[in-house]
Amino acid sequence: MAQMGFFIDVKKCIGCKTCTVACKDKNDLEVGRNFRRVYDFEEGTFPKPYTYHISIACNHCDEPGCVKGCPTMAMHKREEDGVVVVDESKCVGCRYCEWNCPYEGPQYDEAAGKMTKCDTCLDLREKGENPVCVDSCIMRAIEFGPIDELRAKYGNVNEIKGMPSASLTKPNIVIHY
Ligand code: SF4
Ligand code: SF4
Repeated sequence: MAQMGFFIDVKKCIGCKTCTVACKDKNDLEVGRNFRRVYDFEEGTFPKPYTYHISIACNHCDEPGCVKGCPTMAMHKREEDGVVVVDESKCVGCRYCEWNCPYEGPQYDEAAGKMTKCDTCLDLREKGENPVCVDSCIMRAIEFGPIDELRAKYGNVNEIKGMPSASLTKPNIVIHY
């Protein structure tokens, strides 16, 4: 299967954070642990200030710093679709993956002492459904699919002002800005 990724339409996003909440609800995440987050930016000066928002989860990168940083190989990239997941039976809770990710993808579960993260809703995908963030977005600002198809449809922008350099981990994200 092809490498999978997300498309984020910054032009459509209104910053409502429904995607964050839907993801928290599905994954039963406590306050402070967010697999998907919405970052807000302010630009310009009076009389033409403007804001924009970008919804970011794990980007299932081609060169994932989290995987390189993991000493137990708990954090790994699936061969079948390039999705980066944690094997909790191998995770020792050292948080090295968190330090090596520029996107705050790994989210630590204090109670369990294990790392957790976006797995692209593998359980929903097995049933032929989308990740919950995609279908919850009231503005239809998020898509998920083979990254080659998303790039053919929307282009190759994978970083915008305010984001980490895409050269660090080669994220599988396409952004319309
Ligand atoms: S649900 Fe859609 S519009 Fe709302 S913050 Fe997330 S991406 Fe933006
Ligand atoms: S976004 Fe972070 S957690 Fe996700 S694959 Fe890339 S480096 Fe790893």
